[in-house]
Amino acid sequence: MLLATRCPACATVGPAPCADCVAAMAPSVAVPVPPGLDACRALLDYAGPARQVVAQLKYRNARASASWLAEGIAGLVSAEEVHLVTWAPTTDLRRRSRGFDHAEVLARRVAAELGRPCWSVLIRLPGPPQTGRTLLERRDGPEFGARRTVRGASVLLVDDVVTTGATLAAAAAALRTVGAARVIGAAAAHPR
Ligand SMILES: [Zn+2]
Repeated sequence: MLLATRCPACATVGPAPCADCVAAMAPSVAVPVPPGLDACRALLDYAGPARQVVAQLKYRNARASASWLAEGIAGLVSAEEVHLVTWAPTTDLRRRSRGFDHAEVLARRVAAELGRPCWSVLIRLPGPPQTGRTLLERRDGPEFGARRTVRGASVLLVDDVVTTGATLAAAAAALRTVGAARVIGAAAAHPR
């Protein structure tokens, strides 16, 4: 027996999200391409029900809409332009407290939709030393390392929300150090 799902935005029992909330969502405007990426796309305008649906991804009991979002994100790219899918990991602390990484959940479902492998490539490095860094780098926040090579690959980098693009830019920089030929960003939502 299937457990009843609820719309993560309005809590109505049924599809997650429900038809009314889907109708109230707007597609994202074009996303400025962060440094180091070849393209960057987002599915939804991060407002109204879309904001709630994406925010709820972070909680295990409200992930019914992850598949719906993944299907939409997969529709932003063609499988032919992607060799493999990966994600920008959250901090170890957050992953341990929630028991999962919502960006990984999304990336794995997007990969399944595209019929492409999903690889764990990036490692989130602990708080970067700030000395010797430029003002721009200091503002940019997270730093990533890479655990394996992706030489020559076109990589789809999945995240939940792309705002300034700083996280995707930092992740793309790490992917380039292990040979990524192309990096395409794809997010569930982008605020106007
Ligand atoms: Zn709803």
